[in-house]
Amino acid sequence: MPSDKAFRTKCVHSGSMIDPHTRGSITPIYPSTSFAYLEMDKKQYPRYFNTPNQDVLAKKLAELENGESALVFSSGMAAISTAIFSIVKNGDHVIVQKGLYGGTTNFIENSFPDCGISYDVTKGTAREDFESLINNKTRMIYIETPSNPLLDITDLEMVADVAGKKNIITIIDNTFASPVNQVPLDYGIDIVVHSATKYLGGHSDISAGAVITNNNLMPNIIKKARNFGGNLNAQTCYLLERSIKTLALRVEQQNKNALEIAKHLLGHKKIEKVFYPGLESHTGHTIAKRQMHGFGGMLSFELNASHDTTQFQKNLKMILPSMSLGGVETTICSPALTSHSLLTSQQRAVIGISDQLLRLSVGIEDAADIIEDIEQAMA
Ligand SMILES: *Cc1c(COP(=O)(O)O)cnc(C)c1O
Repeated sequence: MPSDKAFRTKCVHSGSMIDPHTRGSITPIYPSTSFAYLEMDKKQYPRYFNTPNQDVLAKKLAELENGESALVFSSGMAAISTAIFSIVKNGDHVIVQKGLYGGTTNFIENSFPDCGISYDVTKGTAREDFESLINNKTRMIYIETPSNPLLDITDLEMVADVAGKKNIITIIDNTFASPVNQVPLDYGIDIVVHSATKYLGGHSDISAGAVITNNNLMPNIIKKARNFGGNLNAQTCYLLERSIKTLALRVEQQNKNALEIAKHLLGHKKIEKVFYPGLESHTGHTIAKRQMHGFGGMLSFELNASHDTTQFQKNLKMILPSMSLGGVETTICSPALTSHSLLTSQQRAVIGISDQLLRLSVGIEDAADIIEDIEQAMA
């Protein structure tokens, strides 16, 4: 049930359980995979997604995203693939926003044709880009905002409106924003998915995923989840529950640091461009201001042509060149060498990803130290 508590309070308290045997204040870890069933009103089993630690974590996530129910998974892709296949079937058509996470794009390109599901990728993120692709088979619109790596912003209310008129289900990958910065169900989006490996886990030591939605869509998601089996173990459920208690603190600091760094890099003589939705110069700034509480910890920038991006990354002393994101430590990666390495330089240029582009996942360190590391690596 949606809770009216403030977000920070929900991070700490939602879902958690007092130990019924010792009155300890922390949710106990229940590692059992085998539960006596005769006296119980439900049959518990990890792959039924209904063990105590799974339930506690799901309740916390549902409250943070203002949903009625949630499920936790062993990875973001387990959550995403299960959620999609709980909605679309053979013969259906899906509209996917351009510039989705690479793993999601691979899943769609590999699995949809095998299953007789057709799809179209939008040209941009305007209303017309979505509306023009709707046909009488369209069953789902899948979006991601802010997007990777240029932090494009899609208007949530607009997408919900376009879809709602035609009875189309909307899904958003809310990984980059986290519920600290963006609560898409409040804008009429139907399903939220997460890679909890990123901000929700926040310490670069957990692989997990989540789906949050309302009670009418959840039964079918649970049915598919039990078939596909992407359930999360009790120990990791506990670790993730523990991490989420500090989610608001972490992300608020990351928001603050990212804005400070973006402002520092903007107009810097060694930097060509800066992409951050918190900057007024960003194309999505007005929409981001309306639908986000903070602008997030992800930003991208282009080094000017006289700098080699690989050498720059090697010069960094504190910031780790790493493909993942959302941790308390600042990390950096070159999309041209990682997520978009299968495209040619020219193909990348068409979608706005220059070979000079670097994506920064800003951590909770002191912003001055992050800036200093960037400065010394450029010098
Ligand atoms: C990492 C990521 C995923 C996939 O999550 P895994 O936990 O690696 O399976 C999905 N979407 C976004 C935006 C991500 O960053």
